[in-house]
Amino acid sequence: MSAPAASSPFRIVHTVCSHDCPDSCGVLVTVNEEGRAVKVAGDPAHPVTQGFLCGKVAKYLDLVYAPERILYPLKRKAGVPKGPLRRGHEHEAFERVSWDEALDAITARLKETAEAHGPESILPYSYAGTIGVLGYGSMDRRFFHRLGASQLDRTICSEAGGVAWNLVYGKKLGTPTEDFRLAKLIVAWGANIHGNNVHLWPMVEQARRNGARLIVIDPYRTRTAALADWHIAIRPGTDGALALGLIHVILNEGLEDRAYIEAMTHGFDQLAERAREYTPERVAAWTGMTAAEIERLAREYATTRPAALRLNYGVQRSENGGTAVRAIAMLPALTGAWKHRGGGAQLSTSGAFPWDKKAVERPDLALASPLKRLARVVNMSALGEALAMKGRGTEGVETEHGPSVHALFVYNSNPAAVAPNHNAVTRGMARADLFTVVHELFFTDTTDYADYILPATTFLEHTDVQGAYGHYFVQLSQQAIEPPGEARSNVWLFSQLAARMGFAEACFRDTPEDLIAQALAIGPDGYSTRPAMEHITFDGLKRLGHIPLGFHRDPEGHPFQPYLSGPLPTPSGKIEFYSEVLAAQGLDGLPRFVPPVESRFGEGAKRFPLEFLSRKADSYMNTTFANLEGHRKLEARTSQRLEMHPADAAARGIAEGNTVRIWNDRGALHLTALMNASLPAGVVAGKLDWAKLSPGGANVNALTSERLTDLGAGATFYSTLVEVVKVQGIGSRE
Ligand code: SF4
Repeated sequence: MSAPAASSPFRIVHTVCSHDCPDSCGVLVTVNEEGRAVKVAGDPAHPVTQGFLCGKVAKYLDLVYAPERILYPLKRKAGVPKGPLRRGHEHEAFERVSWDEALDAITARLKETAEAHGPESILPYSYAGTIGVLGYGSMDRRFFHRLGASQLDRTICSEAGGVAWNLVYGKKLGTPTEDFRLAKLIVAWGANIHGNNVHLWPMVEQARRNGARLIVIDPYRTRTAALADWHIAIRPGTDGALALGLIHVILNEGLEDRAYIEAMTHGFDQLAERAREYTPERVAAWTGMTAAEIERLAREYATTRPAALRLNYGVQRSENGGTAVRAIAMLPALTGAWKHRGGGAQLSTSGAFPWDKKAVERPDLALASPLKRLARVVNMSALGEALAMKGRGTEGVETEHGPSVHALFVYNSNPAAVAPNHNAVTRGMARADLFTVVHELFFTDTTDYADYILPATTFLEHTDVQGAYGHYFVQLSQQAIEPPGEARSNVWLFSQLAARMGFAEACFRDTPEDLIAQALAIGPDGYSTRPAMEHITFDGLKRLGHIPLGFHRDPEGHPFQPYLSGPLPTPSGKIEFYSEVLAAQGLDGLPRFVPPVESRFGEGAKRFPLEFLSRKADSYMNTTFANLEGHRKLEARTSQRLEMHPADAAARGIAEGNTVRIWNDRGALHLTALMNASLPAGVVAGKLDWAKLSPGGANVNALTSERLTDLGAGATFYSTLVEVVKVQGIGSRE
């Protein structure tokens, strides 16, 4: 899909927003005769995008053509130590080099590192800076498998929730976004729909026009919570207790759907037995709700049809977050909400996309590496620990043990800002013996530690194919413009490195088009051979831009509703209230609420009595966009602020505008106090920003820990205890 009228000086190219967002918008880019993008707009033909983009990407050309973009490969100047560089002066620490020089030097250093310490001493670090199939993980995976580099366990965002959901349902499917408009009750649980899932919001509004109610469960009064009929400001890390309390009330009052439970679920009797423990009174003591509120919520949820849950990944970023998601995910199975179109739940739709990942990522190449096996796995949520690691034996393939990390290759991520335990991470990255390469758009917290910086492309500047985790459309993202300067895509970069490494396998010469055909598993007749994609061809995607997965094309015209019938890809073939898989590992087969160690219920609260919420900004995507003035202006009211309940502030003699020090044993930062009576007492909130754009060069991750979630070994950003004190005399706004 490209080119309007033949006489027009403009081309319109179909691209896809590849930022880490459930909406995966179809984006139409208008390109002028000079090859410059002059407009980005949401694709009006896409049923979820509906012709509009969020505020972050509507101004995307500010990012694409930002004067600060890195346009050429850069090498750290001799003698410049690694560490925070003054904003706007970063280029002084680097010198421009050619791509050939950079690639040759990087190749030589990776070879030396592999020979001296073993290839597992090389650690790739990437996440969802781009979520296109190729950009997220294709040629890079091939390269690192063939090299024998450590594998990265990409746990930082969604793993705990994903593992939890799959334990219950076997696969990540959910209520179609378009169907939320049919709901009569929408519960947004840890989901800031208006802030970061904006294309669901019109469906919510339509449902409300038809009489639906919106309930938001979130410790923070987000934009969505402020617009809700009922905002439940639950204490952080107690969602699992609430879910079990709701199950208790539903069963106590006979509000469950016995026919659905009988037909579709496994382990009901065990769950019913467990839920008896979670009386509303007991749950109230954990969550901060009243027993009456818990009963009211349970009744409203179980008796309104259709009832839709929008569960997002905030819930699972607590120590017990996996179990919390697991318990919440059981609710629509208990009430039979899946039976009603517009009911059910959505955490993620990503399980619906049957990409041929083996063909794209080629894990078999590990057998050709010096290891002759898959390399050990390092958890990205414990990067500080990994970088501090001193060789602890090399035998473990699936452990974090093995040689120390001597080379770090960062792309699609900004770990010096987003990884938990910032001080441990940057201590590791500052090691003089660590060789660090960063593929990036801008100078970031992470590039301050780079030996080489390589210029990366935006989604306007490369070709990709993309699914979504908030809808069911496959989309083609076509390259709209030439990359500025010498910016190059991930696919290009890792093909070049493979060639220099002497990797002879033909797959390293695959083009983006080859990779897309492999991801779609295109057969000899030009059609995909994967289930639900059999009607998709490459040409079809080029023509249409987006194509729905096959289950929207039910020959009898029924709309897609997940979990209406089995068997499901779980061990029992049913929705699992009880998990034999967990029980076989010596774990609890049922959900149980265990308060986080770092919470008001833990020992640590004696020294650090406040629960800290490290929030995400609505106008940034983690740390992407945070360097752009237009985006920063939208966040100004709460930027560099610590939001506190007035009672917590008064107890510490803190008034609005005071400079406060927030600290725990991992670090400290200074922010300005901002009163927020909608927070639960005992909870304070600060927002993720770049460390180098924060006072004192520390961001909220100076406080967060590398403790991992109960399922999926994910990051526990929202299980953080702190203390706060007024700073006398400096920078006070009193
Ligand atoms: S960030 Fe999300 S809502 Fe915004 S344009 Fe990208 S996919 Fe759409």
